[in-house]
Amino acid sequence: MAQNSKIHPALTGCLNSTAPVEKRINFSPGPTSLPKEVEKEIAESFHKLGFTSLAISHRSPQFEEILEDTITSIREVLNVPDTYEVLFTHGGGHAQFAAVPLNLCVNPSDIATYIVNGTWSQKGRDEAMKYCDVHTIEAKDENGKFTVFPKLKEEDIHPESKYVYLCSNETVNGIELHRLPKLPENRKHIPLIVDASSDACTKPIDWEGANIGVYFACASKNIGHPGVTMTIVRKDLFRGKEPSKLCPVVMSYKGDGRPEKPLNTPATFNIEVIGMTMKWLLRNGGIDACEKRSINKARAIYDVIEASNGFYATPIKDKNLRSRMNVPFNVMGGDEQMTNKFLIESWEKGFVGFATLTPFGTREYLRASLYNGVTEEEAQILANFMTNFIKQNSKK
Ligand SMILES: *Cc1c(COP(=O)(O)O)cnc(C)c1O
Repeated sequence: MAQNSKIHPALTGCLNSTAPVEKRINFSPGPTSLPKEVEKEIAESFHKLGFTSLAISHRSPQFEEILEDTITSIREVLNVPDTYEVLFTHGGGHAQFAAVPLNLCVNPSDIATYIVNGTWSQKGRDEAMKYCDVHTIEAKDENGKFTVFPKLKEEDIHPESKYVYLCSNETVNGIELHRLPKLPENRKHIPLIVDASSDACTKPIDWEGANIGVYFACASKNIGHPGVTMTIVRKDLFRGKEPSKLCPVVMSYKGDGRPEKPLNTPATFNIEVIGMTMKWLLRNGGIDACEKRSINKARAIYDVIEASNGFYATPIKDKNLRSRMNVPFNVMGGDEQMTNKFLIESWEKGFVGFATLTPFGTREYLRASLYNGVTEEEAQILANFMTNFIKQNSKK
């Protein structure tokens, strides 16, 4: 590297590694790469004769078929019961932060309970505060950091809550609920709202057991590209019911004939891409096989961290909460020089996306994100790099 003259691209969050394209692995927290086979299918779809789904009317029979097909595949992958509707909503995860209270809290005095244990649940809660009476269950560790999930106690959840909200994978903090919690016995009537933006379609979901009311996931982590959100809603909560008067019509779950007849122009191509990913999942063993791959990928990285005698460290001490999707780790206690060396050397090998510049304050940890687009082999390649990096850099 030229002496101090220019900041190395690896340290700016640049994803264009100088390594050959076929060696590059995208460990970004999202948007990120889809499985290679899906990316190939997307590319090929542009060379077919006729129109792609970018250029066909969403009212045409061709698109209706794509829509139907994508919904059917989602239902199959996630085993979604008929009592739920699959919608494709606009505005990403953020729009759902508002849509949830706007649809479930008709009056501003209606109560909603939020479990806040990380960046995204906090953002969801903050948005809801504009529209309803929010009760918060906050979970931080003894250092005031988000590394834990609270024990859900009956007395902490108001019995009249319209819903209980949680984020099943805190993308920034690296905390995942590998299974959704059940609410305490006397609160089981309250529907659970799940922000699954960064872990949807990586593990089975117990829809009825967890009493899910709404389950949403922006596409750009595990299932597709930015521009569409998969929002799965329980019909009885919305069908024929009015949302808050403030609710924009595009954010309403009311079920006025959707999804068969989308209200306005949906993100046609992005929906088709979700369908391609779902079929890829089905061809590759379905959700159970996907979960096994996720477990193996995360284990490969965590094993290196655990065996490193402190060379690497992760903030998430509770192994049951460690995210399989996003593994936060620091290098030599966050030593700046060593961290930069790690970033530069890994970047030159083609591994990118560990250090994104987020609006959430200074970075304390690097993060390896292991979504459906990353293979088990690729996770192992990173694990091997991390092990070799220790050998070359630890003081004897
Ligand atoms: C990425 C992410 C979001 C934000 O989604 P946008 O589509 O950018 O609005 C919300 N929740 C979680 C858990 C995420 O990881």
